[in-house]
Amino acid sequence: MIRIRTEAWEAMVAHARAAYPRECCGAMLGVEQDGVRVVSLARPMRNAYDGPRGDTYMLDPAEQIRVEKEARAQGLSVVGIFHSHPDCDAYFSKRDLESSCPWYSFVVLSIRKGEFDHANSFLPNFDQTAAEKEPLEY
Ligand SMILES: [Zn+2]
Repeated sequence: MIRIRTEAWEAMVAHARAAYPRECCGAMLGVEQDGVRVVSLARPMRNAYDGPRGDTYMLDPAEQIRVEKEARAQGLSVVGIFHSHPDCDAYFSKRDLESSCPWYSFVVLSIRKGEFDHANSFLPNFDQTAAEKEPLEY
C-alpha cells in the first residue's frame, strides 16, 4: 500500500490542477517500510510530451536523474510516479502500462473541470501487461 502525507498530496493536487487541461506528471519521494510506501515529498516534473494531445505524459530523463539525486541526498528514494487524467477517470491506460516499470507505484489523479475528483494507485507487472490496484491513503 501507499500512504501519501498531506503536504506531498497537496503538492500533487496543485500540480494536477495547474496543468489542467493537460496531463501533469511528477515523482513521489519517500521510504518503504514493512511493505508500506510512505510519500513525504512530491516533486512536480515537466511533462516532456509536447504533442497536440492532452492525454499523454512523458518524463524528462534529465529531470528524473536530478530527482533521484535529490531523493538520495535526503535519505529518501523515488517510490513512485504520479500523473493526472484531465476529465477522465483515474484508470491505468494501455499507454500508461506501456511506459510503466514494475518497481514504482503509479498514482493517477482524476481532475474534472479543473478540480480534483478521485485517485488510484497501480502496481504494474514486469511484462507491462497488467497493473494491480494498490491501496492508497492520502
Ligand atoms: Zn494516464
